[in-house]
Amino acid sequence: MTKFTLMALPYVPEALEPVVSRETIAFHHGKHLAAYVNNLNALLPGSGFEEATLEEIVCRASGGILNNAGQVLNHELYFGQFAGEPTKSVPTGKLAEAIERDFGSLEAFKDTFQKMGATLFGSGWVWLSVDKEGKLVVTQETNAANPVQKGLKPLLTFDVWEHAYYLDYQNRRPDHLAALWQIVDWKVVEERFLKIED
Ligand code: MN
Repeated sequence: MTKFTLMALPYVPEALEPVVSRETIAFHHGKHLAAYVNNLNALLPGSGFEEATLEEIVCRASGGILNNAGQVLNHELYFGQFAGEPTKSVPTGKLAEAIERDFGSLEAFKDTFQKMGATLFGSGWVWLSVDKEGKLVVTQETNAANPVQKGLKPLLTFDVWEHAYYLDYQNRRPDHLAALWQIVDWKVVEERFLKIED
């Protein structure tokens, strides 16, 4: 099956330099994410999930199909949240208000988020999500997990798998996480926050 396809990047591969190199994008998007998409498509026939959305698979499946669907969903959110041009983007509107309300300030939020990313043991993702009451929460998710499995709506994520940063930062995961703020497109994050879902 070719139900799921490799997402097109919303920017050219060198657009995130020097924070994320063209070479890292080539491997991370072109090899790692492509492999997760191919693996997922190969596992679909006979799985009972042939007609399911990524979110449905991630919330209901187990084993390899769960892991590959989780990684496809996680990377689509990840690669989709960066700005391909230098940006002084900051949170605005209701998202900015919610960050102040729930973390005290944007800087305090960034501190918490980076620390959670730096201290996640092994491979995984750090997430900003919104819960059913509209409160913002930061969580660590290991391996391919996604906050939708906890009933949260994911807004922003940093990938802390070594493949996300090793070519550019080697073992310096905290430096990589600190640099990523330069390329976050807060408009995308705000759109995710404001999107009404059933
Ligand atoms: Mn990754």
